[in-house]
Amino acid sequence: MSDPMDGIKADWATKDFYKELGVGTTASTEEIKKAYRKLARANHPDSNPGDDAKHEKFKSVAEAYDVIGDPERRKKYDEARTLFARGGYPGGAGFGAGGGAAGFSMDDLLRNQGGGRGGGFGDLFGDLFSGGGGFSQRRAPRATRGADLETSATIGFRDALDGVTVSLRVSSDAACPTCHGTGGKPGTSPHVCATCEGTGYVTASVGGAFSMNETCPACGGRQLVYDDPCPTCHGTGHGQSTRTIQAKIPAGVKDGQRIRLRGKGAPGENGGPAGDLYVTVKVSGHRVFGRKGEHLTVDVPVSFAELALGAEVRIPTLGGAPVTLKVPAGTPDGRTFRVRGKGAAKKDGSKGDLLATVEVQVPGSLSPEAREALEAYAELTADTPLRAGLFEE
Ligand SMILES: [Zn+2]
Ligand SMILES: [Zn+2]
Repeated sequence: MSDPMDGIKADWATKDFYKELGVGTTASTEEIKKAYRKLARANHPDSNPGDDAKHEKFKSVAEAYDVIGDPERRKKYDEARTLFARGGYPGGAGFGAGGGAAGFSMDDLLRNQGGGRGGGFGDLFGDLFSGGGGFSQRRAPRATRGADLETSATIGFRDALDGVTVSLRVSSDAACPTCHGTGGKPGTSPHVCATCEGTGYVTASVGGAFSMNETCPACGGRQLVYDDPCPTCHGTGHGQSTRTIQAKIPAGVKDGQRIRLRGKGAPGENGGPAGDLYVTVKVSGHRVFGRKGEHLTVDVPVSFAELALGAEVRIPTLGGAPVTLKVPAGTPDGRTFRVRGKGAAKKDGSKGDLLATVEVQVPGSLSPEAREALEAYAELTADTPLRAGLFEE
């Protein structure tokens, strides 16, 4: 059996979404849609710039449609309202209506209604709170942008050059998965918070004639309280959600670069946009190649003879066929050759170059024949004044 409280929002008890859209509780999905469209058009912020009341109405209409415009959520909402109305308020949960200390139960409330009206639960609350001293004000849901999130990803050298899509696990603050943010133990029913009388805020005296509203400390602004707190979040309603998202890392990303992925952060609340996700990319090194911006680098071991005599040296390219480097006779050690178009991809789709640097390798040991030949060479060049310049005054 599924949990009857599954997916239910605590503030549904105080919100009449049917009334918000001006439709009956038996309205068809099509009728609800029509009503919503009409109201959304009439109150749209774009056509009512600066009109805060219409802006608020637009938001609450959107919230209402979000719930009862969706048959699945509407069913839950209807069930929740029935549940709240039937047994949600056992006797003893005191409402300080009108400042009196008298506690009364849901049954009392229903009896006081006289049974003459078929009004929904929202009506009941409306009456109660407006009669009890002006508490009819509803907390309009505020569209909040989701938080920006940070994460990191390690990608391969090749992937950094070509671009790659990686799966990232991203954690963000979210409603507790056990109680869906209500803070209550699943299967138990909430009471209207006695401290704030279900408004979600209390009026604190700041001194003199001044007072201000602050979030109710007893219910944390959720308007309802539970006898048994949720075992997962200990009544806070807060949790963590971990999502796996596919992030596209663009071609040419550099090691340590921070990439912003728009809209991949924490989801917004009440229709607000999602935040952004910042990914710090770590690029693994390569055994052969290095990076220098849009160019690739490679160190090419050569012999003294190859540089002195000139040579054709085969060098690798990344992801392509090897190329032949023509090393002219008399090339100094450490010279860098440029192989055009064999580097990293640039933003415009063209490619950088491959920078090949020759490095003389001195053999650690010589065969007798090689030694003999080298000694002969040394003898022939003994008169060449290699170090003469060191001693000039
Ligand atoms: Zn919880
Ligand atoms: Zn409260």
